[in-house]
Amino acid sequence: MKKKLIAGNWKMNGSLAANQALVRAVVDGLHGAACQAAVCVPAPYLAQVQALRQGSALELGAQDVSRHEQGAYTGEVSAPMLKEFGVRYAIVGHSERRQYHGETDETVAEKAKAALAHGITPIVCVGETLAEREGGYTEEVVKRQLAAVVHANGPCISEVVVAYEPVWAIGTGRTATPEQAQQVHAVLRAQLRAATTHADRVAILYGGSMNAANAASLLAQPDIDGGLIGGASLKSADFLQIIAAAG
Ligand code: PEP
Repeated sequence: MKKKLIAGNWKMNGSLAANQALVRAVVDGLHGAACQAAVCVPAPYLAQVQALRQGSALELGAQDVSRHEQGAYTGEVSAPMLKEFGVRYAIVGHSERRQYHGETDETVAEKAKAALAHGITPIVCVGETLAEREGGYTEEVVKRQLAAVVHANGPCISEVVVAYEPVWAIGTGRTATPEQAQQVHAVLRAQLRAATTHADRVAILYGGSMNAANAASLLAQPDIDGGLIGGASLKSADFLQIIAAAG
């Protein structure tokens, strides 16, 4: 059985002092964990967290990656740069980037491709808005978002991590029920099966107000292979409880 993956998304939070306390506590509490764990941190803190996690099983992630290799792209960070800091995962297509930075399905697919080309595993986020869910478009939306990534990456799609993050559940305290999440995860798994014979290898994470209290029931679903955790990843005790629930 593949290990579950619990990845924290710090978003635009942290400070040198706060990161030190948080990562030290997570690393200390991680001993013996049965799942994989990662933290996706703001780019300026990559070097700090890389040093703090040295010698532990905690993996390092970025929250975005440029689709370009290098050049005149002010403000962007490339996959080769991330790689130099020991980055293992990069979130791509988070709904906050789709919403506030105009990222399209095609941009997200190219970012996933750039990450893979440099040995970084993209965590490809898909998810519907509340209006889309209420309009009955959930499956159509997530399938369209994933299809772009499949199209751009061909057989390499078996190397990505997918995160189903209903937009209405992110940071709202409103979580998809385990049944609602499983239903969408099964749709995504079927789509991956049509694209690769290695679909069962792909971890499909759930994200959206996952916390210490609801993690176990979500993680018990057959197609939920882990979690992408926002708010609760900023508190070591909560993050460690979610990691324990994934064991
Ligand atoms: C996220 O930002 O990816 C996320 C899931 O946030 P939260 O857990 O705070 O809903």
